[in-house]
Amino acid sequence: MQEELQNVTEPVVVHAIINGERVDTEKRYSRENPANPEEIVGYGPVNTREDAVRAIDAAAAAFPAWAQTPLRERIAHMRRAIARFREAIPELVPLLSREHGKPVYDAQGEMFVSLAWMDYACDIAEEALAEKVEQHENGKTIITRDPMGVVAAITPWNYPLALSTIKIAPALIAGNTMVLKPSPFAPLAVSKVVEWMASEFPAGVLNMVHGDADVGVELTTNPKVAKIAFTGGTKTATHIMKSASDTIKNMTLELGGNDAALVLSDFDVNDERAMRRLVISNFLTTGQICMIAKRVYVHRSIYDAFVEKYIEAANKWIRVGDAFHPDVTIGPVNNLPQVRHVERLIEDAKSRGAQVIPLGRILDENVFAKGYFMQPTLVLGAGHDDPIVVEEQFGPTVPVLPYDDEEEGIQLVNNSIYGLTSSVWGEEEHALRVARRIEAGTTMINTAAVQGLDIRYPFGGFKQSGIGREYGVEGLLGYTELHVINVPKVGELPNIPE
Ligand code: NAD
Repeated sequence: MQEELQNVTEPVVVHAIINGERVDTEKRYSRENPANPEEIVGYGPVNTREDAVRAIDAAAAAFPAWAQTPLRERIAHMRRAIARFREAIPELVPLLSREHGKPVYDAQGEMFVSLAWMDYACDIAEEALAEKVEQHENGKTIITRDPMGVVAAITPWNYPLALSTIKIAPALIAGNTMVLKPSPFAPLAVSKVVEWMASEFPAGVLNMVHGDADVGVELTTNPKVAKIAFTGGTKTATHIMKSASDTIKNMTLELGGNDAALVLSDFDVNDERAMRRLVISNFLTTGQICMIAKRVYVHRSIYDAFVEKYIEAANKWIRVGDAFHPDVTIGPVNNLPQVRHVERLIEDAKSRGAQVIPLGRILDENVFAKGYFMQPTLVLGAGHDDPIVVEEQFGPTVPVLPYDDEEEGIQLVNNSIYGLTSSVWGEEEHALRVARRIEAGTTMINTAAVQGLDIRYPFGGFKQSGIGREYGVEGLLGYTELHVINVPKVGELPNIPE
């Protein structure tokens, strides 16, 4: 990914894609640069529920032929679509950075993960989706993996490309068609990708509409939608589950997390690289990652030394600024409501007597004052039940709390309505023993956040962090129905009188 970036600063215009056609609307919404909100990065269409209905109809009409297209051909279409995405990286990276706020290296990382997963989904599809034929004493049974129909994909703003392509590739390869709705807080780069990818498939296979809850409601209630693939907040998912219940839709839900890092008594606080990994796993993408460590529990025997070394490491690594500053590691928060949410949690913690310690360096005070920037902070002395510990902050602040014995540490980690990811830090065998007792879809040892992610293995949450899995073989099979075709030996009906 060392291509020269093409940082076009003219506002871009993106469209809805319905049945292979660009659809524009008279009214458009704008997306600002969170590092400089006066700068409009681009515009998207203001779609209505009627547009969503048209997109769903197009996807439903395209479904029968696409489902019957041989798997190898579907994979070939997908590989061409991936190639189209790959070619556009020099244009996409700066666009994503400007609309989202994430530093260039971070935007590149998102492209890398998106492409790696889509390539992998193509590589594993023939084996994973192959039909199974079993001969047995009662005759023959064939088990096929059939597509479900129209998939409504609804995605968030924090990783707009990765969390859209995570759905597009498996759904389409498996023979489904799709209507995707990106988040209005980072719609531009993903819309470009979806438009290009859609052009590599027959009309109607991949459609896209813009909007928020209004359009989302159509996608989640329309009887022609068979499956919802949603990534976003747990609260939004409660609405979606209710909307979808009338027509019993299949669902994959990737929701919020309040991931814990459990630091064991044998963690080496003088291991600078491990400490930097921990800091990164709290603050990457300005803390706006579902799978980032959002609360840190440290064994009391090393707590004081830990805090001292953590602050040292954080002050070295955290450099807050514009996505294009050469030294930046952390950009602004993506949007103002998110800033207000994080501020509210910090103010609440302060009012309860917690100590809030600023971390890192502001690269340019003028830039900082203009944008949706926040000074990253460490929160000490919070109570276990305080909102800053219990709620998902999804921003640049993290509480660190001491615990006295391992049982208590494990209980604190598990005492949450969430269970997305988690991490255990310490001597490897010890950490592995503890990891087995953690209630989370993924547990990482001596690392966390995206460093501990491997797209070859399933990803998803326990408890209110979700239903189902993405990535891995399971992430592909989640877009299929099992279809059993039985061919019994005719003429023999055991236990039924003639
Ligand atoms: P959000 O729930 O506010 O929005 C997600 C999407 O849902 C957006 O496209 C939004 O327009 C749409 N939406 C909103 N209301 C809707 C409704 N009533 N019906 C249908 N669609 C509706 O989430 P967000 O703020 O964009 O993203 C942050 C959240 O996403 C955090 O909680 C984070 O943990 C979670 N997340 C989870 C994962 C994961 O894999 N588990 C990954 C990334 C983010």
